[in-house]
Amino acid sequence: MNDKSIYIIGAGISGLVAAIELEKAGYYPVILEASDRIGGRIKTEEVDGYLLDQGFQVMLTAYPELSRYLDLEKLNLKKFKPGAVIFKPGATYAVHDPLRNPLKLFAMAFSKVGTIWDKYKMYALTQDLKEKPLDAIFSEPQTSTQEYLKNFGFSDKIIQNFFAPFFRGIFLETSLSTSSRMFEFVFKMFAEGQAAIPEKGMGQLSQQLFEKLEHTQIRYNTGVVRVEKNKIILEDENTITADDIIIAIPPGKLIGHEETAFHEVTNIYYTLQQSFIGKAMIGLVPDDKFLVNNLVFLTDVSPGYASDGRALLSVSVIKDIKGIENPEQLIALELEALTGINATYFQHVKTYTISNALPVIKDAKHWIPRQHTKLYDHVYLAGDHLLNGSINAAMTSGRLAAEAVITGE
Ligand SMILES: Cc1cc2nc3c(=O)[nH]c(=O)nc-3n(C[C@H](O)[C@H](O)[C@H](O)COP(=O)(O)OP(=O)(O)OC[C@H]3O[C@@H](n4cnc5c(N)ncnc54)[C@H](O)[C@@H]3O)c2cc1C
Repeated sequence: MNDKSIYIIGAGISGLVAAIELEKAGYYPVILEASDRIGGRIKTEEVDGYLLDQGFQVMLTAYPELSRYLDLEKLNLKKFKPGAVIFKPGATYAVHDPLRNPLKLFAMAFSKVGTIWDKYKMYALTQDLKEKPLDAIFSEPQTSTQEYLKNFGFSDKIIQNFFAPFFRGIFLETSLSTSSRMFEFVFKMFAEGQAAIPEKGMGQLSQQLFEKLEHTQIRYNTGVVRVEKNKIILEDENTITADDIIIAIPPGKLIGHEETAFHEVTNIYYTLQQSFIGKAMIGLVPDDKFLVNNLVFLTDVSPGYASDGRALLSVSVIKDIKGIENPEQLIALELEALTGINATYFQHVKTYTISNALPVIKDAKHWIPRQHTKLYDHVYLAGDHLLNGSINAAMTSGRLAAEAVITGE
């Protein structure tokens, strides 16, 4: 055992991974967690026998960090079929596998979404990105995703019908202002692997990390308000002096710096007697007039998300709906307009508004030298905000911060 006192602030994915790495090196870290649970933004709540992930999110099986920390077989991953079902009032059509096998797409089906030229462009981009190493992606000059798609030569038709709703649902912002590096990264991950969820909810992912810990103490309901040199000041005004500290949250507030901005999303759950998609595919609503951006029947992907055989629908709204009274009813009416199914059949289960969903990052990275996680002597940083808003980045950042502590660099 190494008796250095190492404190980690935050029990999200990055904090848990940092603890795993520190344990491997013989340390007994302590995690200070403001809430009463582990997992941070990855949380599954059980409500009336339904498993509700707080915010629709997926793991991409091509994420390089997953196999370091997770037993994917044990998670019993349920995979999405690649592609999407596009919903417009009066018309619904599926686009199968546009990111992996664009040339296999039926011309007729594709013509509703884009042009023949788009099909070849899609193929070219898929091939380019499959061969492009992550280091190359993250060292390119960056522009917005919107500009990147235009510069690459995609038509307005495919941007509007496919790319915009698909990537709005991933970046959780409406203007596709997210870095083109992030676009290339996510596109590559989709082209090389599949989107998946654990059979019993995304929360299983953090649970599995937690179960790896043997010598880590987690102090719940222990919010940190400030970090001064190697001193941690808690909400209850107690002070802890540590040998080393990993701040596994955006550090702004704790060190008197500017706070990190975040994108927000509202996630509304309904149940229906049966799914109107009927396959493990994501639904997209391209028309900007609607509040709904994307939807998915989680029970089409993993029936284990419902215990009563009903179909569990997760709807994501990226637009700001704070001023709207009873958004659940309005969204049900939108779904009626899109599917023809009477709004009263959509039984509302729960709504989550997640204000700190994804950090706004200007300089997206997938890796930094571990020395760069050091804020100052004895204080290190982790968290997705350091690199990019993804599970993969959260894991990488936790690993790098722990390595920096272990090596003292
Ligand atoms: C709706 C949504 C959809 C997403 N979709 C995807 C997706 O499809 N694919 C993907 O890869 N990623 C997705 N993500 C991103 C992914 O969930 C995050 O990148 C990852 O969970 C971040 O982990 P983290 O450890 O950096 O931070 P967090 O999960 O935020 O963990 C921080 C922890 O610190 C605690 N804490 C905060 N302040 C304090 C304090 N002062 N003192 C003590 N503890 C504190 C918090 O309670 C929390 O437990 C999504 C996120 C959301 C919210």
